Amino acid sequence: MSRDPNCIFCKIVAGEIPSTRVLETDRAVVILDINPVVKGHVLIIPRDHYPQLRDLPDELAAHAGSLLPRLARAVVSAVRAEGSNVIINSGGVAGQTIDHCHWHVIPRFDGDPVHWPWPHQAYSGDEMARTASRITDLLDPA
Ligand code: AMP
Ligand code: ZN
Repeated sequence: MSRDPNCIFCKIVAGEIPSTRVLETDRAVVILDINPVVKGHVLIIPRDHYPQLRDLPDELAAHAGSLLPRLARAVVSAVRAEGSNVIINSGGVAGQTIDHCHWHVIPRFDGDPVHWPWPHQAYSGDEMARTASRITDLLDPA
């Protein structure tokens, strides 16, 4: 079990810091976010410490992903929401504040304070094809 002694989520997983848990599995705990974007907002926290999404083993990502439909149904029903967002902030530039990779499941209501969509950009010339080909070339073998 990998752990960072200075990590708040490792401490939550170990029970050294209190949390409000809604689900526990052998590889992850799911807690209420202490400062929810919308009330009912939960965090899926892998028990093992991996700083960012890119660091996660595939099987751990698959396990956390397998919890999403069930959690989305329960979260949305519990607060009588109309939909939900799932997000991982990976890296400080993307808004990650706790460097222990985790998923946010956020219930959504018509007229809630969250603003979506984000602004969009446009590709020019062959930029889209070149970008796709760079990504494809850099994918690790499956
Ligand atoms: P991120 O910015 O993606 O790293 O998300 C970190 C999240 O953890 C934020 O939404 C915080 O509100 C939440 N958070 C921070 N400390 C605690 C805590 N002790 N218990 C529950 N949630 C927390
Ligand atoms: Zn950690």
